[in-house]
Amino acid sequence: MLSSADKIIDIARGGDLTGVYEKVLANQRLSFADGLALFSSVNLPQIGMLANIVRERKHTGNVVTFLIGRNINYTNVCWVRCQFCAFYRPPGSDEGYVLSRDQIFEKIRELLRLGGTEVFLQGGLNPKLKLDYYIDLFRAVKAEFPVHLHSLSPAEVLYISHLSRLSLEETISRLRAAGLDSIPGAGAEILIDEVRKEISPLRDEASEWLRVMRTAHQLGMPTTATMTFGLSESHEHRLQHLIKIRELQDETGGFTSFTAWNYQPDGAQLDLPRATAFDYLKTQAIARLMLDNVANIQVSWLTQGAKIGQVALKFGANDFGSTIFEENVITAASVTKCILPIPEIRRLIQDAGYEPRQRNTRYEIIG
Ligand code: SF4
Repeated sequence: MLSSADKIIDIARGGDLTGVYEKVLANQRLSFADGLALFSSVNLPQIGMLANIVRERKHTGNVVTFLIGRNINYTNVCWVRCQFCAFYRPPGSDEGYVLSRDQIFEKIRELLRLGGTEVFLQGGLNPKLKLDYYIDLFRAVKAEFPVHLHSLSPAEVLYISHLSRLSLEETISRLRAAGLDSIPGAGAEILIDEVRKEISPLRDEASEWLRVMRTAHQLGMPTTATMTFGLSESHEHRLQHLIKIRELQDETGGFTSFTAWNYQPDGAQLDLPRATAFDYLKTQAIARLMLDNVANIQVSWLTQGAKIGQVALKFGANDFGSTIFEENVITAASVTKCILPIPEIRRLIQDAGYEPRQRNTRYEIIG
Protein backbone atom coordinates (compact mmCIF):
# COMPACT_ATOMS: atom_id res chain seq x y z
CA MET A 1 0.00 0.00 0.00
CA LEU A 2 1.52 3.33 -1.04
CA SER A 3 1.47 6.27 1.38
CA SER A 4 0.13 9.63 0.16
CA ALA A 5 3.65 10.95 -0.29
CA ASP A 6 4.63 7.82 -2.22
CA LYS A 7 1.57 8.25 -4.42
CA ILE A 8 2.57 11.82 -5.30
CA ILE A 9 6.10 10.65 -6.17
CA ASP A 10 4.59 7.79 -8.15
CA ILE A 11 2.43 10.24 -10.14
CA ALA A 12 5.41 12.47 -10.84
CA ARG A 13 7.49 9.53 -12.08
CA GLY A 14 4.75 8.12 -14.25
CA GLY A 15 3.01 5.59 -12.02
CA ASP A 16 1.37 2.96 -14.19
CA LEU A 17 2.36 5.00 -17.24
CA THR A 18 6.12 4.87 -16.80
CA GLY A 19 6.74 3.52 -20.32
CA VAL A 20 4.65 6.27 -21.89
CA TYR A 21 6.27 8.88 -19.66
CA GLU A 22 9.73 7.88 -20.85
CA LYS A 23 8.69 7.99 -24.49
CA VAL A 24 7.12 11.43 -24.09
CA LEU A 25 10.25 12.75 -22.41
CA ALA A 26 12.37 11.29 -25.22
CA ASN A 27 10.01 12.85 -27.82
CA GLN A 28 9.20 9.45 -29.29
CA ARG A 29 5.99 8.57 -31.14
CA LEU A 30 3.39 6.75 -29.04
CA SER A 31 2.02 3.44 -30.27
CA PHE A 32 -1.52 2.09 -30.26
CA ALA A 33 -0.57 0.08 -27.13
CA ASP A 34 0.64 3.27 -25.45
CA GLY A 35 -2.68 4.89 -26.27
CA LEU A 36 -4.54 1.97 -24.74
CA ALA A 37 -2.41 2.21 -21.59
CA LEU A 38 -3.40 5.88 -21.35
CA PHE A 39 -7.09 5.14 -21.82
CA SER A 40 -6.89 2.33 -19.24
CA SER A 41 -5.38 4.63 -16.66
CA VAL A 42 -7.49 6.70 -14.27
CA ASN A 43 -4.46 8.79 -13.43
CA LEU A 44 -5.91 11.94 -15.00
CA PRO A 45 -3.39 14.42 -13.50
CA GLN A 46 -0.53 12.36 -14.90
CA ILE A 47 -2.11 12.12 -18.36
CA GLY A 48 -2.68 15.88 -18.33
CA MET A 49 0.91 16.47 -17.25
CA LEU A 50 2.22 14.32 -20.09
CA ALA A 51 0.01 16.14 -22.60
CA ASN A 52 1.28 19.46 -21.31
CA ILE A 53 4.88 18.40 -21.84
CA VAL A 54 4.08 17.98 -25.53
CA ARG A 55 1.99 21.18 -25.63
CA GLU A 56 4.81 23.22 -24.11
CA ARG A 57 7.37 21.66 -26.45
CA LYS A 58 5.27 22.70 -29.45
CA HIS A 59 4.27 26.13 -28.12
CA THR A 60 6.93 27.89 -26.16
CA GLY A 61 5.79 31.04 -24.39
CA ASN A 62 2.64 31.46 -22.46
CA VAL A 63 0.09 32.28 -25.11
CA VAL A 64 -3.33 30.73 -25.62
CA THR A 65 -4.99 31.77 -28.85
CA PHE A 66 -8.64 32.23 -29.77
CA LEU A 67 -10.47 33.08 -32.93
CA ILE A 68 -13.39 35.40 -33.56
CA GLY A 69 -15.50 33.47 -35.99
CA ARG A 70 -19.10 32.80 -36.79
CA ASN A 71 -20.90 29.63 -37.73
CA ILE A 72 -23.65 30.22 -40.23
CA ASN A 73 -25.89 27.22 -40.74
CA TYR A 74 -27.09 28.26 -44.20
CA THR A 75 -29.52 25.34 -44.65
CA ASN A 76 -30.96 22.69 -42.35
CA VAL A 77 -32.32 20.56 -45.20
CA CYS A 78 -30.53 17.22 -45.24
CA TRP A 79 -31.41 13.73 -46.45
CA VAL A 80 -28.74 11.87 -44.46
CA ARG A 81 -30.73 11.58 -41.20
CA CYS A 82 -27.83 10.95 -38.82
CA GLN A 83 -29.19 9.64 -35.52
CA PHE A 84 -27.02 11.98 -33.48
CA CYS A 85 -28.27 15.11 -35.29
CA ALA A 86 -31.25 17.14 -34.10
CA PHE A 87 -30.57 19.96 -36.55
CA TYR A 88 -31.61 18.57 -39.91
CA ARG A 89 -35.05 18.61 -41.54
CA PRO A 90 -35.66 16.16 -44.39
CA PRO A 91 -36.27 17.54 -47.91
CA GLY A 92 -39.90 18.65 -48.17
CA SER A 93 -40.27 19.48 -44.45
CA ASP A 94 -42.15 22.69 -43.62
CA GLU A 95 -39.37 23.50 -41.15
CA GLY A 96 -36.60 23.31 -43.75
CA TYR A 97 -34.85 26.56 -44.64
CA VAL A 98 -32.14 28.04 -46.81
CA LEU A 99 -30.89 31.41 -45.59
CA SER A 100 -31.16 34.26 -48.07
CA ARG A 101 -28.05 36.06 -49.19
CA ASP A 102 -29.17 39.13 -47.22
CA GLN A 103 -29.48 37.06 -44.06
CA ILE A 104 -26.00 35.59 -44.56
CA PHE A 105 -24.51 39.01 -45.30
CA GLU A 106 -26.09 40.53 -42.20
CA LYS A 107 -24.56 37.80 -40.04
CA ILE A 108 -21.14 38.48 -41.59
CA ARG A 109 -21.53 42.21 -40.92
CA GLU A 110 -22.21 41.42 -37.25
CA LEU A 111 -19.06 39.31 -37.20
CA LEU A 112 -16.95 42.10 -38.66
CA ARG A 113 -18.34 44.62 -36.18
CA LEU A 114 -16.88 42.41 -33.42
CA GLY A 115 -13.48 42.19 -35.10
CA GLY A 116 -14.09 38.71 -36.45
CA THR A 117 -12.18 37.10 -39.28
CA GLU A 118 -13.62 33.67 -39.99
CA VAL A 119 -16.90 32.58 -41.57
CA PHE A 120 -17.87 28.96 -41.07
CA LEU A 121 -20.72 28.21 -43.47
CA GLN A 122 -22.03 24.76 -42.71
CA GLY A 123 -25.28 23.05 -43.57
CA GLY A 124 -27.05 19.84 -44.39
CA LEU A 125 -26.81 17.92 -47.66
CA ASN A 126 -29.54 19.80 -49.50
CA PRO A 127 -30.32 18.24 -52.89
CA LYS A 128 -31.45 21.62 -54.24
CA LEU A 129 -28.09 23.32 -53.75
CA LYS A 130 -25.67 22.60 -56.56
CA LEU A 131 -22.09 23.72 -57.18
CA ASP A 132 -23.27 26.99 -58.77
CA TYR A 133 -25.04 27.98 -55.55
CA TYR A 134 -21.78 27.71 -53.59
CA ILE A 135 -19.67 29.37 -56.25
CA ASP A 136 -22.04 32.34 -56.48
CA LEU A 137 -22.31 32.63 -52.69
CA PHE A 138 -18.57 32.38 -52.03
CA ARG A 139 -17.75 34.88 -54.78
CA ALA A 140 -20.33 37.30 -53.41
CA VAL A 141 -19.05 36.95 -49.82
CA LYS A 142 -15.43 37.49 -50.85
CA ALA A 143 -16.32 40.46 -53.05
CA GLU A 144 -18.08 42.14 -50.13
CA PHE A 145 -16.13 41.15 -46.99
CA PRO A 146 -12.47 40.63 -45.93
CA VAL A 147 -13.10 37.27 -44.26
CA HIS A 148 -11.55 33.81 -44.30
CA LEU A 149 -14.03 31.23 -45.60
CA HIS A 150 -13.45 28.18 -43.45
CA SER A 151 -16.54 26.47 -44.72
CA LEU A 152 -18.45 23.34 -45.70
CA SER A 153 -17.44 19.89 -44.46
CA PRO A 154 -16.06 16.83 -46.23
CA ALA A 155 -19.61 15.42 -46.50
CA GLU A 156 -20.87 18.60 -48.17
CA VAL A 157 -17.90 18.74 -50.52
CA LEU A 158 -18.42 15.09 -51.50
CA TYR A 159 -22.12 15.62 -52.08
CA ILE A 160 -21.53 18.73 -54.19
CA SER A 161 -19.07 16.75 -56.31
CA HIS A 162 -21.60 13.92 -56.75
CA LEU A 163 -24.40 16.31 -57.68
CA SER A 164 -22.13 18.11 -60.15
CA ARG A 165 -20.66 14.87 -61.54
CA LEU A 166 -17.22 16.36 -61.08
CA SER A 167 -14.13 14.83 -59.52
CA LEU A 168 -13.22 15.88 -56.00
CA GLU A 169 -10.13 17.65 -57.35
CA GLU A 170 -12.21 19.67 -59.78
CA THR A 171 -14.90 20.44 -57.21
CA ILE A 172 -12.44 21.66 -54.58
CA SER A 173 -10.47 23.62 -57.17
CA ARG A 174 -13.63 25.41 -58.33
CA LEU A 175 -14.74 26.12 -54.78
CA ARG A 176 -11.30 27.46 -53.96
CA ALA A 177 -11.29 29.68 -57.04
CA ALA A 178 -14.65 31.08 -55.84
CA GLY A 179 -13.20 31.91 -52.39
CA LEU A 180 -13.17 28.82 -50.18
CA ASP A 181 -9.99 29.15 -48.09
CA SER A 182 -10.06 26.01 -45.95
CA ILE A 183 -12.32 23.12 -44.97
CA PRO A 184 -13.33 22.37 -41.37
CA GLY A 185 -12.91 18.82 -40.11
CA ALA A 186 -16.62 18.52 -39.33
CA GLY A 187 -18.41 15.23 -39.73
CA ALA A 188 -15.42 13.04 -38.90
CA GLU A 189 -17.35 11.58 -35.95
CA ILE A 190 -15.41 8.34 -35.47
CA LEU A 191 -13.50 7.34 -38.60
CA ILE A 192 -14.40 3.66 -38.24
CA ASP A 193 -17.09 2.33 -40.55
CA GLU A 194 -18.65 -0.08 -38.07
CA VAL A 195 -19.34 2.87 -35.74
CA ARG A 196 -20.47 5.19 -38.56
CA LYS A 197 -22.91 2.60 -39.91
CA GLU A 198 -24.56 2.29 -36.51
CA ILE A 199 -25.16 5.99 -36.01
CA SER A 200 -25.56 7.28 -39.57
CA PRO A 201 -25.94 4.47 -42.11
CA LEU A 202 -26.33 6.88 -45.04
CA ARG A 203 -23.22 8.87 -44.17
CA ASP A 204 -20.00 8.82 -46.19
CA GLU A 205 -17.49 6.15 -45.21
CA ALA A 206 -14.37 6.96 -43.20
CA SER A 207 -12.18 6.56 -46.30
CA GLU A 208 -14.30 9.19 -48.11
CA TRP A 209 -13.83 11.72 -45.32
CA LEU A 210 -10.09 11.11 -45.47
CA ARG A 211 -10.11 11.29 -49.28
CA VAL A 212 -11.66 14.77 -49.22
CA MET A 213 -9.03 15.93 -46.75
CA ARG A 214 -6.18 14.31 -48.68
CA THR A 215 -7.37 15.93 -51.91
CA ALA A 216 -7.70 19.35 -50.30
CA HIS A 217 -4.22 19.07 -48.80
CA GLN A 218 -2.75 17.94 -52.11
CA LEU A 219 -4.28 21.02 -53.72
CA GLY A 220 -2.62 23.16 -51.06
CA MET A 221 -5.77 23.85 -49.05
CA PRO A 222 -5.44 23.44 -45.26
CA THR A 223 -8.14 21.75 -43.21
CA THR A 224 -8.78 20.96 -39.58
CA ALA A 225 -9.45 17.60 -37.95
CA THR A 226 -11.98 16.60 -35.32
CA MET A 227 -13.33 13.58 -33.49
CA THR A 228 -16.82 13.33 -32.01
CA PHE A 229 -16.68 10.76 -29.26
CA GLY A 230 -19.29 9.28 -26.93
CA LEU A 231 -21.07 7.63 -29.87
CA SER A 232 -20.84 4.15 -28.28
CA GLU A 233 -17.38 3.57 -29.75
CA SER A 234 -14.61 1.81 -27.82
CA HIS A 235 -11.29 3.28 -26.74
CA GLU A 236 -9.71 1.20 -29.51
CA HIS A 237 -11.94 2.99 -32.03
CA ARG A 238 -10.88 6.40 -30.69
CA LEU A 239 -7.24 5.42 -31.02
CA GLN A 240 -7.72 4.06 -34.53
CA HIS A 241 -9.37 7.37 -35.41
CA LEU A 242 -6.43 9.36 -34.02
CA ILE A 243 -3.92 7.16 -35.83
CA LYS A 244 -5.76 7.65 -39.15
CA ILE A 245 -5.50 11.41 -38.66
CA ARG A 246 -1.81 11.06 -37.74
CA GLU A 247 -1.06 8.92 -40.80
CA LEU A 248 -2.72 11.36 -43.17
CA GLN A 249 -0.87 14.21 -41.49
CA ASP A 250 2.41 12.33 -42.03
CA GLU A 251 1.51 12.12 -45.69
CA THR A 252 0.26 15.65 -46.35
CA GLY A 253 0.90 17.94 -43.36
CA GLY A 254 -2.38 19.70 -44.17
CA PHE A 255 -4.20 19.60 -40.81
CA THR A 256 -3.78 22.82 -38.85
CA SER A 257 -5.54 21.67 -35.68
CA PHE A 258 -7.48 18.96 -33.91
CA THR A 259 -10.55 19.23 -31.68
CA ALA A 260 -12.21 16.42 -29.72
CA TRP A 261 -15.95 17.11 -29.36
CA ASN A 262 -18.15 14.98 -27.17
CA TYR A 263 -21.57 13.94 -28.44
CA GLN A 264 -24.42 16.22 -27.36
CA PRO A 265 -27.54 14.09 -26.82
CA ASP A 266 -30.07 16.96 -26.41
CA GLY A 267 -32.92 16.55 -28.85
CA ALA A 268 -31.18 13.91 -30.97
CA GLN A 269 -32.51 10.45 -31.74
CA LEU A 270 -29.45 8.65 -30.40
CA ASP A 271 -30.05 8.04 -26.69
CA LEU A 272 -26.56 8.00 -25.20
CA PRO A 273 -25.23 9.73 -22.09
CA ARG A 274 -23.13 12.87 -22.42
CA ALA A 275 -19.40 12.26 -21.91
CA THR A 276 -18.18 13.20 -18.45
CA ALA A 277 -15.61 15.95 -17.91
CA PHE A 278 -13.12 13.26 -16.87
CA ASP A 279 -13.60 11.37 -20.14
CA TYR A 280 -13.37 14.60 -22.15
CA LEU A 281 -10.17 15.83 -20.48
CA LYS A 282 -8.55 12.42 -20.77
CA THR A 283 -9.52 12.05 -24.44
CA GLN A 284 -8.23 15.51 -25.33
CA ALA A 285 -4.95 14.90 -23.50
CA ILE A 286 -4.49 11.54 -25.23
CA ALA A 287 -5.18 13.21 -28.58
CA ARG A 288 -2.40 15.72 -27.79
CA LEU A 289 -0.06 12.84 -27.02
CA MET A 290 -0.94 10.67 -30.02
CA LEU A 291 -1.09 13.48 -32.61
CA ASP A 292 2.57 14.40 -32.39
CA ASN A 293 2.49 15.88 -35.90
CA VAL A 294 -0.52 18.22 -35.45
CA ALA A 295 0.50 21.64 -34.20
CA ASN A 296 -2.63 22.87 -32.45
CA ILE A 297 -5.19 21.36 -30.10
CA GLN A 298 -8.43 23.29 -29.53
CA VAL A 299 -10.57 22.95 -26.44
CA SER A 300 -14.23 22.12 -26.90
CA TRP A 301 -15.96 24.62 -24.63
CA LEU A 302 -19.02 24.44 -26.85
CA THR A 303 -19.82 20.91 -25.71
CA GLN A 304 -18.22 20.96 -22.27
CA GLY A 305 -18.99 24.48 -21.12
CA ALA A 306 -16.60 27.37 -20.61
CA LYS A 307 -15.30 26.20 -17.24
CA ILE A 308 -14.24 22.74 -18.39
CA GLY A 309 -12.91 24.42 -21.53
CA GLN A 310 -10.71 26.53 -19.28
CA VAL A 311 -9.45 23.48 -17.35
CA ALA A 312 -8.77 21.74 -20.68
CA LEU A 313 -6.00 24.30 -21.25
CA LYS A 314 -4.02 22.27 -18.72
CA PHE A 315 -4.68 19.06 -20.66
CA GLY A 316 -2.66 19.68 -23.79
CA ALA A 317 -4.67 22.41 -25.54
CA ASN A 318 -3.09 25.64 -26.75
CA ASP A 319 -6.14 27.19 -28.40
CA PHE A 320 -9.55 28.21 -27.08
CA GLY A 321 -11.17 27.81 -30.50
CA SER A 322 -13.72 30.07 -32.03
CA THR A 323 -16.23 32.40 -30.45
CA ILE A 324 -18.92 30.49 -32.43
CA PHE A 325 -21.82 32.92 -32.33
CA GLU A 326 -24.27 30.36 -33.52
CA GLU A 327 -24.07 26.60 -33.78
CA ASN A 328 -26.92 24.25 -34.44
CA VAL A 329 -25.45 20.96 -35.59
CA ILE A 330 -23.23 19.92 -32.69
CA THR A 331 -25.34 21.52 -30.00
CA ALA A 332 -28.62 20.22 -31.44
CA ALA A 333 -32.06 21.77 -31.34
CA SER A 334 -32.03 22.89 -27.75
CA VAL A 335 -29.36 25.52 -28.39
CA THR A 336 -29.81 27.95 -31.23
CA LYS A 337 -27.43 30.64 -30.03
CA CYS A 338 -24.28 29.98 -28.10
CA ILE A 339 -22.31 33.08 -27.34
CA LEU A 340 -19.26 33.28 -25.14
CA PRO A 341 -18.35 36.98 -24.97
CA ILE A 342 -14.83 37.81 -26.03
CA PRO A 343 -13.91 39.50 -22.67
CA GLU A 344 -15.03 36.28 -20.96
CA ILE A 345 -12.80 34.20 -23.23
CA ARG A 346 -9.89 36.48 -22.34
CA ARG A 347 -10.69 36.20 -18.63
CA LEU A 348 -10.90 32.40 -18.73
CA ILE A 349 -7.53 32.18 -20.47
CA GLN A 350 -5.89 34.72 -18.15
CA ASP A 351 -7.18 33.06 -14.99
CA ALA A 352 -5.62 29.79 -16.19
CA GLY A 353 -2.27 31.59 -16.29
CA TYR A 354 -1.93 32.32 -20.00
CA GLU A 355 -1.85 35.38 -22.21
CA PRO A 356 -4.91 35.47 -24.50
CA ARG A 357 -4.19 36.45 -28.11
CA GLN A 358 -6.56 36.67 -31.01
CA ARG A 359 -5.51 34.67 -34.07
CA ASN A 360 -6.78 34.15 -37.58
CA THR A 361 -7.63 30.79 -39.17
CA ARG A 362 -3.99 30.33 -40.22
CA TYR A 363 -2.98 30.60 -36.53
CA GLU A 364 -1.27 33.95 -37.09
CA ILE A 365 -1.56 36.30 -34.11
CA ILE A 366 -3.58 39.41 -34.99
CA GLY A 367 -5.09 42.35 -33.18
S1 SF4 B 1 -25.01 15.68 -39.06
FE1 SF4 B 1 -24.91 16.73 -41.05
S2 SF4 B 1 -25.15 15.07 -42.55
FE2 SF4 B 1 -25.93 14.25 -40.60
S3 SF4 B 1 -28.15 14.71 -40.62
FE3 SF4 B 1 -27.12 16.42 -39.55
S4 SF4 B 1 -26.83 17.94 -41.15
FE4 SF4 B 1 -27.19 15.98 -42.20
